[in-house]
Amino acid sequence: MNNDETVGSSDHIEVLDALLDNEHPTKVAVADWARTALDDPKLEQRDLECTFWVEGWQAIAERGLLASLIAEEYGGRGNSLTTTLLQLEGLGHGCRDDGLVLATTAQVLTLSLAIERFASEDQKREWLPKLARGSAIGSFAMSEATSGSDAYSLTTTATKTADGYVLNGEKAWVTLAPVADMFLIFASTNPDVGRWGISAFLVPRDTPGLIIGENRPKMGLRTTPFANITFDDCVIPDSALIGAEGSGASIFSASMEAERGFLLVGTIGALERVLDDAVTYGRERKQFDQPIGAFQGVSHPIAGIKLGHESSRLLMYKAAALQQRGTPSMMAAALSKLAGSEAALSGALTALEVHGARGYVTEYGVERDLRNLSGGVIYGGASAIQKNIIARLLGLPA
Ligand SMILES: Cc1cc2nc3c(=O)[nH]c(=O)nc-3n(C[C@H](O)[C@H](O)[C@H](O)COP(=O)(O)OP(=O)(O)OC[C@H]3O[C@@H](n4cnc5c(N)ncnc54)[C@H](O)[C@@H]3O)c2cc1C
Repeated sequence: MNNDETVGSSDHIEVLDALLDNEHPTKVAVADWARTALDDPKLEQRDLECTFWVEGWQAIAERGLLASLIAEEYGGRGNSLTTTLLQLEGLGHGCRDDGLVLATTAQVLTLSLAIERFASEDQKREWLPKLARGSAIGSFAMSEATSGSDAYSLTTTATKTADGYVLNGEKAWVTLAPVADMFLIFASTNPDVGRWGISAFLVPRDTPGLIIGENRPKMGLRTTPFANITFDDCVIPDSALIGAEGSGASIFSASMEAERGFLLVGTIGALERVLDDAVTYGRERKQFDQPIGAFQGVSHPIAGIKLGHESSRLLMYKAAALQQRGTPSMMAAALSKLAGSEAALSGALTALEVHGARGYVTEYGVERDLRNLSGGVIYGGASAIQKNIIARLLGLPA
């Protein structure tokens, strides 16, 4: 049960409803809202200039989306995972600023969830109400220039002192870092024992020795800034540590399972928008005295977008069902990430071809969708890494 919308009498019915009903009222309500409330006439310009939309973020916070999954005692809405996913899927469908949608999903499904699951009572009370209100933005910083897919080979260190720890090193590609107020940082407290020496810390932006780099322009998702963060003898107190020393790998691993399973939820919503636009264009655009959608060379690829959208949606809600039931969902999560990201990339490419020259020029937004929707095959674990997980779970030799 949840506070925003009642969608079923039990978790099972709720997730089955979500899975079967692409027009689920919870999703449609957010999509309809986002279509007008988040319709920014300056999107094309912001995309060019790589600018984050603060007013859009505040509107998303006021709609309760940042608070959706956070427990009521920490200022959240206390919604179920399924209700939260339906809302975020609706956000992706209705909002054309895919960067803003990724920022929202990363905040809700990676950062806030990790804090709620693993942080101390004091840490939760300090950060979750602000994250729920949108008055603080947080970033999740694991990757480094030399440790991407091989995340546990990180080199950032947290050296124990009498009063706390001293951080040294550099994190790369940290989503929202240029605008973030706090960071969830992974660093090694004991490099001799590899992944078992990794620990996690919550570090406020204004901590001396924490230096945020310039926003790094990228191919897509340009309205979500990202940057490197450098730690130069950055002193933090003992109270910054989340969980026990050495539990960072477990925290990261649990966070990655949530990322794999669900981070693509906004992209799945966006892919449905791409599909809607392609169908509309296929019906309206005429060549050789007929709508181009009458040519199988156009209609069959559009049917392929539908297949990719529907199958990735089903896999994502299956992963949600397993997680809500407390059943191991590593296979489902990897399949969800792989299917969602690959369907989004190929679907957006198909849509670009269907739109001809209008797909290729900037003003229609179709090429922006392709640039934005291609990122999912890299962030949250590249496609090859998902295939490695699937192969390993199938029992193939590592
Ligand atoms: C838009 C965006 C946002 C991001 N946000 C964040 C963030 O907020 N926080 C954060 O910590 N990180 C973030 N990242 C970083 C992201 O997690 C990494 O880019 C990702 O894990 C891949 O690492 P890499 O880029 O170093 O690629 P590499 O690990 O160097 O991989 C390069 C290529 O080699 C392949 N490869 C690597 N190892 C294997 C293997 N064992 N088997 C087969 N193929 C392999 C990969 O599939 C890939 O094709 C973000 C990245 C992007 C693009």
